Amino acid sequence: MVNIILFGAPGAGKGTQALLLAEKFELTHLSTGEMLRNEIDSGSWLGQQAKSIITRGELVSDELVIDMIGDQITRHPHAKGFIFDGFPRTQVQARELDRLLQEKNMQITALIELEVDTNELTCRLLKRGESSGRSDDSSIEVIKKRIEVYNRQTASIIGYYQTQNKYFPVNGLGSIKDISERLNKQVRHFLP
Ligand code: ADP
Repeated sequence: MVNIILFGAPGAGKGTQALLLAEKFELTHLSTGEMLRNEIDSGSWLGQQAKSIITRGELVSDELVIDMIGDQITRHPHAKGFIFDGFPRTQVQARELDRLLQEKNMQITALIELEVDTNELTCRLLKRGESSGRSDDSSIEVIKKRIEVYNRQTASIIGYYQTQNKYFPVNGLGSIKDISERLNKQVRHFLP
C-alpha cells in the first residue's frame, strides 16, 4: 500500500496532479479543499461556517478537517492506498493523520512537494480565479494571505517528514504532462 501526501503552496498544482496520480496508480484521492467546497455548495451548517474562513484565505479548524479525513479513511476500507491533497496543513494535522493511519495499521509512505515559486503561484491563482469562480482565487489580497498562511503554518510540516526520510521535492514548473511524468517516476520508486 502506498499513501502519498501531495504537498505544495496554493496554486502549486496539487489538485490537478493528485487526480492524475490517483488514476494512474489506483489510489483513493482525498482533498479537504474539495470536501469543504462540497459542504459549501450543499448549504450545510458546516459549509456555512467554513465559507467565511475560506473566503478570507485562512485555515478552517484542525478538528474539522481531521474528522472529515478520518471519516473518509474509514469509508474506504478496501483502498489500495490514499493520495492526500491539501491535508495535512498544520503540525497538529500531520500528527493526527499518523494516528488515524496507525489505528488501521497503515502509514504515510512519502510527502511529495511540488516546488513552485511565489510569482508563478500568484499568476496561476489569478488565472484560475477568472474561470473557477472560487471566491478565494479572485482577489490578490486573499491570494497573498493564503501564501502567507502557507509559509507561516503549513510549510514547516516538511520537517516532520524530513526527519523520517519521507520528504521528496519535485519541480512543479512546466507543462502538466511534464510534471505528471516527474511525479509518476517518483511514485514508482515506492511501489513494491
Ligand atoms: P489551495 O491549496 O489551492 O489553496 P484547497 O482546495 O486545498 O486550495 O483549499 C482551499 C481552502 O480550504 C484553504 O485555503 C483553507 O481555507 C481550506 N482548507 C483546505 N484544506 C484544509 C486543511 N487541511 N486545514 C485547514 N483548512 C483547509
